[in-house]
This record gives sequence, C-alpha cells and structure tokens, in this order.
Amino acid sequence: MNTITRRRLLKAACALPVAASLPAIGNPEGSADFSRLKAAYAERLRRILAAGNLPYVDIESSCNSSSVDIDAIAQSMDRLNIGLMALSADIGRNQFSRGVRFDNLSDRLIARYPDRFIPVGNGGQPPALTEAADEFLDAQAAAARKGQMMLLGEFEFRHYPSPRQVRRGELDRDVRVPIDGAAAHRVFGLSQTTGMAFQIHYEVEDELLAPLEAMLEQYLKARVIWCHLAQVLYIERASRYTPAYVESLIRRFPNLYFDAAFGDASSTYPLSRQRHARVWAASGGLEDEWRRLIVAHPGRFLSALDLGQDRLQRIDEYDRKHRDFLGQLPAETRYDVAYRSAWSLLFGEQFA
Ligand SMILES: [Zn+2]
Repeated sequence: MNTITRRRLLKAACALPVAASLPAIGNPEGSADFSRLKAAYAERLRRILAAGNLPYVDIESSCNSSSVDIDAIAQSMDRLNIGLMALSADIGRNQFSRGVRFDNLSDRLIARYPDRFIPVGNGGQPPALTEAADEFLDAQAAAARKGQMMLLGEFEFRHYPSPRQVRRGELDRDVRVPIDGAAAHRVFGLSQTTGMAFQIHYEVEDELLAPLEAMLEQYLKARVIWCHLAQVLYIERASRYTPAYVESLIRRFPNLYFDAAFGDASSTYPLSRQRHARVWAASGGLEDEWRRLIVAHPGRFLSALDLGQDRLQRIDEYDRKHRDFLGQLPAETRYDVAYRSAWSLLFGEQFA
C-alpha cells in the first residue's frame, strides 16, 4: 500500500458515520442472533447434503415486502433444495412516499424461517438511492448497527432498463449513480468499517471500469459483490471485459466477488438484441475460458438467482437454469460456488 492510498483510507475511515463497534460479520459470535442463525443455516445445509442433494445459497434475490408470499417461497426452497436465500426488500414508490427508508422484511423472514433466510439490507435503487440517498443510507447504516442484516442489498449504480420494463415501455430505470460519487463513498465506507458485503449492479462499459477500480483501490477492505458475472448487454461498449480482465481484478482486489445471476445461453436483451451473458459458448455450454476462471478462483464466485417480485413464481425455472450452470463446473468447484464461497463471505470461515 503506498502512502497516498494509506492516507486516502485513513481519510475515508475518519469520514465514516458508523461506529467501529458494529457487529463484525467475520466474527458473528459478537451477536447472539447471528450465532443462532448460523447454526440453523449449517444444519439445513448439512441436511440437504446428507440426502445427496446440492444446496446453494442464493445471495441475490429481491421482492416487494407487501406482496411477497413468504410461505410459498419457503416451500419452494424445500422442494428445490435451495439452501439459503438473501431475499431483499425493494422500497417501492408507495413506501417511499410514506417515508419508509428501511424495510424490515428480513426481521419477519428470520422470525418465521430462521434456518434459511439471510437478513439483508434493502435494494439501493430508485427512488430511495436517487431521491433520498442520505436518508436511505442513514437508515441502512442504523439497521446494520442494530444487527438487522448480515449483508447490504444490491446497489444500482448503472442499470439499463430491465427486459420487463422494456416490454412495458418503462425506460425510466436507466439508472446512473456515479460509482465514485458521495452515495457510493458512503456505501463502500460502510462495507469497509463493518466488514459487511454489498452488491453492485453495474453494467459493463469500458468507460465505467476505471472509476470502479479506483473505488476498489481506495476501499480495499470493502467487500463488493459485482452481480451478474459477464452480463454485457452491449458488446460494442465493453471491449476490455474478458475472463483475463476479471481475473486481473480478482488478483488485485482480495475482497471482490462476482455472482452468477445471469441469463441462460438463449436469453437475449431486447434493446440490444444481444446475448444477456457472455459465459456461454456458441454450442450453448459454458465457454472454456470462463470455466477456467471460475475453477481457478472458486471462492470468488457466488450462486444467485436474482428473483424479483415479478418473477418469484418462476423460481422452478430459475433454479433449473442455475443448476444447469452449476452442473457444468467440476464437482469441487460446484460445491464452492454453490454454498462454500457464500459461507466464507458471511462468516469468515470455511463451511465445516
Ligand atoms: Zn442486478
């Protein structure tokens, strides 16, 4: 670490609003609740394994807390042998208008099913992150301080309109929140002080890479999950993003992770009419270079379904597609990506 970086880190740490006495996620013994959850999670994972099935940890799904059917999801998880799920509540426009800045869905989830839901912060997206960033981040930080989450939600710094929004002509979710702006500094800083991971939705464009790398360099201890590995929706904007580039990031940044929530080989993005995910070879199988990358760094890749409120009922289909991907990995790597990497990220130790 050079002097400038050290000075930057010091400056960033001093500017942080959160006390250093937060429950450290790498040491969950600091919180009785987290210890109890951890024990219940381990038992559930072991039970699924003992029955000869592969459990995985869905690190990134979201929903509308007022309409989600918790019991239906829990039953699906049993039926599909999904181990754990970080099901985040998105704060919708109605809630936002009523002044909600933290949705405590996770409290309800773990009260009812303490063996399978991971308490997680809310999605950082419009309108919360774009119209009231400070209030929203104050509320997320306060909830983190109270031990209401093990990881922060998915923050949308650059998000193209989703396929569903394109179909409905809703192009307002063309989100641009600077990855090196004030809100981002708060999020990276919160992660760095708490050890709590957070997720970023950050479309792949050549010009967006340098500011992200600068943030990762400035906050070396922030634990960042870059969602949607190899989801490049406009290939002409992303000449630099290759397996070799992702590997260079992995080597430079020890706390950078990627999740495997991406479309299958036949999925295309309607606005560009290009493939959603670049991990697939023309044959439809996993492309060798991407497989080699995952095998070389299995602890950096995480299972994820990316369910949302509009597609919760498609959990069987999402599970099948995700298992198709996992099935193309060598056995040891498959187990790592499915649940061991998430376990290490959440608890700072190997799953035993
Ligand atoms: Zn996303």
